[in-house]
Amino acid sequence: MLDRYEPVIGLEIHAELLTHSKMFCGCRVVDSVEAAPNTAVCPVCLGMPGMLPVINRRAVEFAMRVALALNCEIQNHNIFARKNYFYPDLPKGYQISQYELPIGRHGWLDIALSDGTTKRIGIRRVHMEEDTGKLTHRDEGSLVDYNRSGVPLLEIVTEPDIRSGEEARAYATRIRQTLRYLGVNSGDMEKGVLRIEPNISIRPRGSEAFGTRIELKNLNSFRALADGTDFELDRQAAVLDGGGKVIQETRGWHDTRRETFSQRAKEEAEDYRYFAEPDLPPLFIDPAWIQTMRATLPELPQAKEARYRIDFGLSPVEATALADDRAVAEWFDAAIGAGGKPKSLANWILNDLFRLLNERGLTISDVPLAPAALVELQSLVDRGTINLTTAREVLAEMLESGRDPTTIIEAGGLGQISDEAALIAIVDQVITDNPGPLTNYLGGKESLLGWFVGQVMRATRGQANPALVNEIARRRLEEKRDTAGS
Ligand SMILES: [Zn+2]
Repeated sequence: MLDRYEPVIGLEIHAELLTHSKMFCGCRVVDSVEAAPNTAVCPVCLGMPGMLPVINRRAVEFAMRVALALNCEIQNHNIFARKNYFYPDLPKGYQISQYELPIGRHGWLDIALSDGTTKRIGIRRVHMEEDTGKLTHRDEGSLVDYNRSGVPLLEIVTEPDIRSGEEARAYATRIRQTLRYLGVNSGDMEKGVLRIEPNISIRPRGSEAFGTRIELKNLNSFRALADGTDFELDRQAAVLDGGGKVIQETRGWHDTRRETFSQRAKEEAEDYRYFAEPDLPPLFIDPAWIQTMRATLPELPQAKEARYRIDFGLSPVEATALADDRAVAEWFDAAIGAGGKPKSLANWILNDLFRLLNERGLTISDVPLAPAALVELQSLVDRGTINLTTAREVLAEMLESGRDPTTIIEAGGLGQISDEAALIAIVDQVITDNPGPLTNYLGGKESLLGWFVGQVMRATRGQANPALVNEIARRRLEEKRDTAGS
């Protein structure tokens, strides 16, 4: 279809903000899955008549941090608006949102594509609003839980710059990572705290006019986002090819059938009859407040990745993996600060440490492993105090106990055997004990050297210095050849 049609995709992302209280009242924000229904509610978020909303300052700060991280201009003069519609999960009969004057506009986010290129996606707006309640449908009727009613919600809307399921996925993944870096959202799509809705249309190549778009819902994973988007592009192309018209509607994604299906005709924006919220004053954000927020932004994932590649010489794959999670990245940065060597540290973290953590179902924040302790382990290997095999065992022990590597090595007698005289004795013993392999070696099968080294490593429970064993074994075997030849 790509030769005939151009995909035009925009993404709307709704992210609940991790504030302690709700957007316009003092109710706690609770886990929507674990908390008992309707236990975090009050007259304001239940929409009782006469109740007045009050803006949550922290939610505004979180919104500002996101807007700044997405390179938006911050609106100094913010107006909240009423979005009027009726639904059982919306007790007031309207949602307080931002319409004409959102907190952030004209931003952008760069995404990395699988072919190694980078693409800039425009951010049209970032605005604050409140979440609705949650409906559960059963055979005997529907249940509503208002715990979520009034939870601060951020809506992030792109320009129609996205052209494929892969780009949609790369963008959404980057947004989720950024929100987690900022500490404003857990990124838990299964719990619905992050909801992604693409608007998808196609138009004949060369055409300037937009085609009719559909909105896709029920996407609970990045894979569903990519597959659902690609399915929809193909479906629309087939409709147009068959001489039909795409209908403007909301469609759902069926995760097991791997296809989209029609849900309902889409309302136009004017159906909501937006008007300025009369119960809230305009929100003024002065430049000093914006400056404070900008100053508290952490180093963002793109900047970390670039620094790891350029300053530390890591590969793009290593840089991306280390920067993926902020806790890991900061742990890595702390280890570098403690004198670690970047390339070797990256190997230790991405291979050995991640394997040990995965086996235990833990994250870096769950274990008592200090960054400086891994640097110490690294230098013990470099100095030849222990070999790599032992170091891996020591690391596992460090993860469990939080003890430093030197203590573990001394307590366990794990130091590497680099005493030449001791190693010569062991090598000689192995040669004496194995006359068959010796004869074969002397007969020209010199690859058996590795076998002899392996025997010595076994005899020393892996603690011998392998390079030294290799050297001694070669020397002693060659001396046997001289003896045999004379
Ligand atoms: Zn409340």
